[in-house]
Amino acid sequence: MVDAWLVEAMAAYNADSLADRDGYRGLVHVPGEALETILLWSLESLPDEILVGLDGDNARPHVAEVDELFRGADHEDGLFAGEGQVLGDVTLVNRGDSWSVHHVPEEWTDGIFAESRGTRGGRFIHWLHTHPNAVAIPSEQDADAAQHTRGVDMILGIEFSPEGPLPWFEDTEGVRRRLQPDEVAPVQEQRGGRGWGSWRRKRERPVLGVAPTGHRIHGLELISFHRSGCGINVIFVAEQGFPYGWEEGA
Ligand SMILES: [Zn+2]
Repeated sequence: MVDAWLVEAMAAYNADSLADRDGYRGLVHVPGEALETILLWSLESLPDEILVGLDGDNARPHVAEVDELFRGADHEDGLFAGEGQVLGDVTLVNRGDSWSVHHVPEEWTDGIFAESRGTRGGRFIHWLHTHPNAVAIPSEQDADAAQHTRGVDMILGIEFSPEGPLPWFEDTEGVRRRLQPDEVAPVQEQRGGRGWGSWRRKRERPVLGVAPTGHRIHGLELISFHRSGCGINVIFVAEQGFPYGWEEGA
């Protein structure tokens, strides 16, 4: 069972995916459990970034009526490998800083693929890596690593506290996609005393949920892109393959 706050966040994200469908050339369906697992691994691996490998599940094709609804004007069939299959098992492949995380240990690259497929080898179709306390926008290294991806690349940005050595960083240009409920409970303004010292009042942020590691989650964002640079639309799906927030008969 996926935590209720995350279910709400995914439903809100899916609503955006639907509203903005015309801006994307492809679609991927990501199971909610996969996101929850990756989020937990991310927090357990701090302050490192993590690299996760994913494949499509042959036994789980996209539900056709979902794709029909979410396919936008610019949709292009056959853009990437693994298309049309709900993503399957997730595998934690590596951890490290923003440079080393893409360099997969030798035993993962099966030797023969190492040169032809770049630093991450040919083992998985899709890849996801995290940006702890930073926006989900690809860096130059990310764009380079993605050149060897047969499927799609994803980045999960997580804003959390206690933040340790990684204060929130968002000074980057690019399109951001928030993964959070439409309505986040407002934070009670902390009224400190008047006059001296009031400037010291700490910035209070809303809390979406609390992870099993004890971290408070203040924000999540997720993007997906193809090696050509175009955006891929993400839909978070529940066990039956329907999106969170999907209403029967709607
Ligand atoms: Zn990155």
